[in-house]
Amino acid sequence: CGIVGYIGHRKAYPIVLNGLKRLEYRGYDSAGIAIYDGKELRFSKTKGKVADLESKIEADISTEGTIAIGHTRWATHGVPNDVNSHPHFSNSGDLVIIHNGIIENYEPLKQELKNRGYSFQSDTDTEVLVNLIEDVQRKEGVKLGKAVQIALNQTIGAYAIAVFDRRKPNEIVVARLGSPLAIGVGEDEFFIASDASPFLEFTKNAIYLEDGEMAVVRTHKEMKVRKIHDDSLVDPYVQELQM
Ligand code: GLU
Repeated sequence: CGIVGYIGHRKAYPIVLNGLKRLEYRGYDSAGIAIYDGKELRFSKTKGKVADLESKIEADISTEGTIAIGHTRWATHGVPNDVNSHPHFSNSGDLVIIHNGIIENYEPLKQELKNRGYSFQSDTDTEVLVNLIEDVQRKEGVKLGKAVQIALNQTIGAYAIAVFDRRKPNEIVVARLGSPLAIGVGEDEFFIASDASPFLEFTKNAIYLEDGEMAVVRTHKEMKVRKIHDDSLVDPYVQELQM
C-alpha cells in the first residue's frame, strides 16, 4: 500500500508510475492512477501489479497531464478487484481520492449518505470518505481543504489521503493519521508520497506530515499545513534529504 502524487509543470504520469514501482516493497494487490490534463480527469485501475496497470493504462487512456495521483492497494474493505481499486470518485465525478488506511466508522457514514441519495460502486471505506467530502462541500459550500477537514473530523480510523477536485484543478489536498505521508517541495511543483523515494531524483526538500496534519499543495502558492482537529496552522519543517 502506497500513494504517490504530483502537481506541477512536468508530465505527471511517469513520475507517479515510477513512484508506485518504488513503493512496491510495501506490498499490495491492486494499483491505479488518475490524471488531469487541464480538461479531462482520466483514470485507470486494476487488480494486480503496477506493471499490469502500466500496460492497461497505456492502452486505455491518454497519459498527458501535469497532475496525477496514484495508489497501490492493500485491501481491507472489499476484495481485491478492479472496482475496489483506487482511485475512487464521488457521485458527481468531480472529486477523486486515493487512500491508505481504514475508515473504521464507514458503515454508519455510508448508510447516512445512502439516505441522502448517494450510491456506491465499490465495497470500500474509501468511496464513503470521498462522498462524505462531496456531501460536506454541498451542504456547507466550503473550499475543498475545509471540506476534507470537516469530513475527516467525522471519521474514526487511519489514513494517508490525497484528494483532487477537477473544478479546482490547481491544488491537491493531503492528510495523514497513522499512515506515512511525505511532501516533496520543488520549484513550483509538489510531490506526494508514502516515503521520499519516489521524488528524491527531483527534489531533496521534503516535509513529513505529522499525524493529524493536513496540507493543501497548490501551484504558484505557498503550501499551508494545519492540524485537522483544531484547524491551527503549523509551520512546516522542510528537511533537506541526504543522498
Ligand atoms: N481501506 C482501503 C481499501 O480497502 C485502503 C486500503 C489500503 O491501505 O491500501 O480500499
